[in-house]
Amino acid sequence: MKIEAKEKPKVKEKPGYKSIPIGGVIPKAGSSREYKTGDWRVRYPVIDKEKCINCLFCYIYCPEKCVVVKDGKVERVDLDYCKGCGICATECPKDAIEMKLE
Ligand code: SF4
Ligand code: SF4
Repeated sequence: MKIEAKEKPKVKEKPGYKSIPIGGVIPKAGSSREYKTGDWRVRYPVIDKEKCINCLFCYIYCPEKCVVVKDGKVERVDLDYCKGCGICATECPKDAIEMKLE
């Protein structure tokens, strides 16, 4: 009985790093300012200045650095960049920050 050698299956070439489309290119320094990262926020922080003791925990913990401080006091939140994560509200020792629905 004659056994025919089977044709080797063609191995599909695996994609390499060169086939990955180019993305995340930062052509110039400071370009992140143009991306308003607050666009997709669901909740936004509202600071009750009556309760606030200006401990600046919210400023320190905010991952976006969008709590604006002037003369050692919290002035406002820059909503262009606030992502609404609520970390500031969680860390506030005086419950002075309320996360409100957009
Ligand atoms: S964490 Fe709360 S009490 Fe402290 S500065 Fe921010 S809002 Fe005010
Ligand atoms: S909700 Fe998040 S991103 Fe917005 S001010 Fe608070 S900590 Fe910063």
